[in-house]
Order: sequence, then C-alpha cells, then structure tokens
Amino acid sequence: MLDALRAEVLEANLELVRRGLVIFTFGNASGVSREDGLLAIKPSGVPYERMTPDDMVITDLDGNIVEGNLKPSSDLATHAMLYRAFPSIGGVVHTHSRHATAWAQAVREIPCLGTTHADYFHGSVPVTEPLSAADIAGDYEANTGAAILRRMAGLDPLGCPACLVAGHAPFCWGTSVADAVHTAVIVEELAAMAWMTLTINPAAQPISQHLRDKHHFRKHGPSATYGQK
Ligand SMILES: [Zn+2]
Repeated sequence: MLDALRAEVLEANLELVRRGLVIFTFGNASGVSREDGLLAIKPSGVPYERMTPDDMVITDLDGNIVEGNLKPSSDLATHAMLYRAFPSIGGVVHTHSRHATAWAQAVREIPCLGTTHADYFHGSVPVTEPLSAADIAGDYEANTGAAILRRMAGLDPLGCPACLVAGHAPFCWGTSVADAVHTAVIVEELAAMAWMTLTINPAAQPISQHLRDKHHFRKHGPSATYGQK
C-alpha cells in the first residue's frame, strides 16, 4: 500500500542525513496521501543504513497504525496534528539541526533579516511558548502540536512553513515530503545566517516590509513571477 509514498518518505529521511541535519536517528520525516487519508512516517529508532521502504509505518490522520510491523516515530502525534490542521501541506520534517535548534533553545524567533529569509517566510520563523508541566506530563507529542498550532494561528502555513518549539527544535513542512526537507535545509541556513548577522551587528534590524513583500510575493501567491511557468 502507498509504495510511491513509502519510497519518497524513506528518501526524505536519508536526504536529511546527507544534508547534515540529522545525526544518529534524531529527526523524522513523513508524507501524506490526501486521497487515501493516510500518512507514511519513519519508524522509531531504526538505523538509517538499514531502513527500507517497507519499514515506513502507514497510519491514518489520527495516528492509528494501518500498516507496518515497526513502531512509528515517537513524534507521530505532532505530524498527524499538523496534517489535520493544514490541508495545504503534504509533508512534515522534524530535525534537531544545530543552528535552528539553538534559536529554539534560546526561545527566540528568527527575525527576517534579509531577502533569503523573505523568499521563504513572510516574517519571522516563529517560536512556541514553552510547554507547561501539565502539557509535558500529558500527551506530550500532541501538546507539542497544539503549541505549534496556537503559535501559527492566523498565519498561512505555506507562507510560514516552519515553527520552532521552545526548548526543543524546529518542525518544518511543505507541499510534499521532499519540499518539507527543502524547508528544513533552508531553516537551518536562515538560522545560521541570522546568528552571524546579529554577531557582526547586534543592532541589525529586520528588512523593511516593502523588501519583505517584494521577495515573498515574487515566489508565493497569485502574483508570483519566480521560476519557469
Ligand atoms: Zn525532537
């Protein structure tokens, strides 16, 4: 079942390792089939060099296992919640990539300091509120998803395709699982650039709204002109 999606999800997980965003078995990628109402996600704790498409776990969008012998990634409930809340997304990626995680640990949103950032995010990369003791003791992964959704309220998920979880790390998404990997690579790069920018000049300010709009809407929305049509 869903052989093409399984292969895409495996490839996305391997790509995270090749891009240096994942060490050991940290991190996970999933993809969704909207027509089937099912998602495929990495299994928990299986070494990447031994993973095969058949190891991907298929679940419904409530996280109930439909097919697979292995335990799904422990972050499944967070992924499932994002798919339920954002019908426009097709893939979710979670990593502990170094620079983006540093911003999450600092509980700081990544400000939009340049056009590279504005090409992907129409504003800061947001950060959640820290989870409460009750959130952590309860259904932790679902409560992580809920914290992301609270912070994303009113934002277009494709105009802001990632959110940092305070004290934890980024969750990223895109129109497909491959696109979500692309987002994760970009978020890591933006995080590193912003850190360097503020190190060189601690008083550096976000770019103007004019420049932000120009770059963002060149690539996104009805007036987009970027790329080959
Ligand atoms: Zn994590």
